[in-house]
Amino acid sequence: MTSSNKARPLPQKVIGILGGMSSQATAEYYRMLNARMTARLGGWDTAEIVTVSVNFGNIEHFVRNALWAEAEAYLAGKLDRLERAGADVILCASNTMHRVVAPAMEGRATPFLHIADPAGDALRRAGLSRAGLLGTLPVMQSGALRRRYRERFGIEILVPPGDGQQEVDRIIFDELVHGALNPGSKAAYLRIAAALQARGAQALILGCTEICLLIGQDDLPGLPVFDTTSLHVDAALAFALG
Ligand code: GLU
Repeated sequence: MTSSNKARPLPQKVIGILGGMSSQATAEYYRMLNARMTARLGGWDTAEIVTVSVNFGNIEHFVRNALWAEAEAYLAGKLDRLERAGADVILCASNTMHRVVAPAMEGRATPFLHIADPAGDALRRAGLSRAGLLGTLPVMQSGALRRRYRERFGIEILVPPGDGQQEVDRIIFDELVHGALNPGSKAAYLRIAAALQARGAQALILGCTEICLLIGQDDLPGLPVFDTTSLHVDAALAFALG
């Protein structure tokens, strides 16, 4: 293969990732963005990306102690840094931190791709209206996310019962963010997904950016899976090439 006769440098927008929440998920964003850009454009083309990767120890402390104002103050400075670095669009690579990042992006000049929107849009286009949601405790208990899925996309959200929520959250913080993929935890997620389906869920939203490392569509042949990481990446690529 030889170099193509495309315009060089290739016109493309710079994708800004607010990442490190966790590093496991951000590595997956980086890998997917580049691999899919090459798949679309062929040859040697990859994405142009700037990443600001934060200290996940700070995030874990803020999230588990519900210190949302502190989290917003910490991340606002990181958003400034992404904008100064020339991001043409900003993605927050954590569902949980949208709680503070989405409001913090309001009024900024740089476009923001909210992680729930590509998932909601894909569900709606598939004709589905009731989905189970797995994520951290603040995600599964978030009224704002539930409202966003309902009001923008007509999707009703179902979440596991209390003990199931604790288990999903524990596996994220104790295992997935450290890159630990345990068969027992995978079985637990599949059991919880099956229980949501039995309660009427027509689909499952992987509403945490690490869950795709543990389970995917192949594990749930009878339940459509909507992975927020993968769909967020596709939305960013569409924007970058828009
Ligand atoms: N990656 C996560 C998410 O998508 C969880 C870790 C965090 O609290 O940021 O929600």
